[in-house]
Amino acid sequence: MFRIGFGYDVHRLVEGRFLILGGLRIPHSMGLLGHSDADVLVHALMDALLGALARGDIGQHFPDSDESYRDASSLVLLRRVMDWVRDEGFAINNIDSTIVAEKPKLATHIPAMRETLARVLKISEDRVSIKATTCEGMGFCGREEGIAAYAVVTLMAEKVGRQE
Ligand code: MG
Repeated sequence: MFRIGFGYDVHRLVEGRFLILGGLRIPHSMGLLGHSDADVLVHALMDALLGALARGDIGQHFPDSDESYRDASSLVLLRRVMDWVRDEGFAINNIDSTIVAEKPKLATHIPAMRETLARVLKISEDRVSIKATTCEGMGFCGREEGIAAYAVVTLMAEKVGRQE
């Protein structure tokens, strides 16, 4: 009656790009490099949703080679993935996620990210958990070369008679 999905993503930090995380523009001296807006949290979440449906990954559905996704808002793509979740007869039970970034400090932005994702997914905020951690100066994250995100989602079967 339920499914679990897991997603992971990482993007490189560069100068001259906006930092978009959880659908918000976060003030920072650098931003994430990518074909779309490079919202690493939303990408991890989309992969978790696709994983729960066993429908591949975002690279398959929204390839870098497709010009229509250049600088696309990842929230638009998330909305599309959520439509597939509903079409398959599932609803989101809950989401848990972690952003791994040395800088900037994200704690003050997390409430607005939760609100944004809950609105786009049409679920209540208490089902959306977003956490943040640093790498204590170690590795690519610690050197501020990139930001990573992990997401786990549980779906519950909603449609009566769905074969599980
Ligand atoms: Mg990505």
